Amino acid sequence: MRILVADDNKDAAQTIGALLAMRGFQPLLVNDGLEAFARLQRPDAPPLATLDWKMPGMNGIEICRQLRQQATQPYPYLILVTGEGTKDDLLDGLASGADDYLLKPVDPNELYARLITGKRILDLQEQLLATQRLLRQQATRDSLTGLLNRATILEASEREMTRSRREARPVTIIMADIDHFKSINDTHGHIVGDRVLHDTAQHLLTLLRPYDTVGRYGGEEFLIVLTGCGASKSLVLADRLRRMVADNPVMCNGKAISVTLSLGVAVWDGHSSLQELVEMADAAMYRAKRRPQSRGDGGNRRGPATGATVGLMRLPIKLQLSNRPAIHPRCASA
Ligand SMILES: [Mg+2]
Repeated sequence: MRILVADDNKDAAQTIGALLAMRGFQPLLVNDGLEAFARLQRPDAPPLATLDWKMPGMNGIEICRQLRQQATQPYPYLILVTGEGTKDDLLDGLASGADDYLLKPVDPNELYARLITGKRILDLQEQLLATQRLLRQQATRDSLTGLLNRATILEASEREMTRSRREARPVTIIMADIDHFKSINDTHGHIVGDRVLHDTAQHLLTLLRPYDTVGRYGGEEFLIVLTGCGASKSLVLADRLRRMVADNPVMCNGKAISVTLSLGVAVWDGHSSLQELVEMADAAMYRAKRRPQSRGDGGNRRGPATGATVGLMRLPIKLQLSNRPAIHPRCASA
C-alpha cells in the first residue's frame, strides 16, 4: 500500500519512510504541507497519509480539515504526527478530521499497529465501494446485453431532452427491434435467442458514437438516444445500424443465424413528452416492419426497411436512404 509521509523535517520523514518500507509499504515522502495537500487531492492519491502537525505552507490539521470539507473520494485515512501537544491539541486534531495520531519520536511498533488499523478501515471501505459499484451496475444495466436497462435509458433520454433545450441542439431517438425474434427462439432455442440479443447489442455499440446512449427497452427492443444529430443524419445512422446487423449473422454452434432489425427514428420537437417521442419512434418502427422487404440484393441484406418519424420539426427534411423511410403522419404537413 502507498503511504504519503509529510514532514518538513527531512530526517523525520526518512525515518518513518524507512520503517514503512521495512514492513512492505510504499512510502512517498514530501517535506511541505501544500505539496502534501496537493498530492492527496490527485486521482492517484495514496489512500493513507501520516501528516506532521507543524509544517510550512499548510499544517497537518489544516490539511485534514480541508480534505474532509471537500469530502475527497475515496476517503483517505489520515494520521497526525506531533512532537508535543496537550490533550486538547490532540482533540482538536481529531476534530479537524484526522483518523488517528502518533507522538514523536515515533515508536516503530506503534506506527505499525496504527497503520494496520488504517489499512483495515480502508479495506472495509473498498469492499463497501465495490458492493456499491456492483449494486449500481445491477440497478442500471441489463444483465444479458450489458446495455442500460429500460429505466436508465429513459432517464438518459429525459436528461438529453433537458440538455437539448438548454443548448439548442437536436435530440433524436431510434427504436430498433429484432424481426421475428419469437421464431428465432422457437426454432433455435432460448440460448441462441440470448446470443442474438447480446450480439445485436454489440453491433449497435460498435457503430454508435461514445456520447450516444443505448439501452434495452424491452424484450428484443433497443432504444438509442442521439445528441446533436438532426433527422437526416439520424436516418443515415439508423440505416447503417440496420445493415450492420443484417450483414453480420450471429454464429452459434457453427450455424449462421440471420438477424434483421426494423428501426424507427423520431426527432424531438422540443415540446412533446418523452412518452410521445417514444410512441412516435415506435410507430415508425412498426410501420417499417410492416413494409414489404424493399431491398432487392438478396441474401442477408434483405430485411425490413428503416422507418423514420419526425415530430413537429419545422425544418425541411431530406431523406437520403436507398429505401423509402416511413414518415410519421404528424410531420407530413410540417
Ligand atoms: Mg514539523
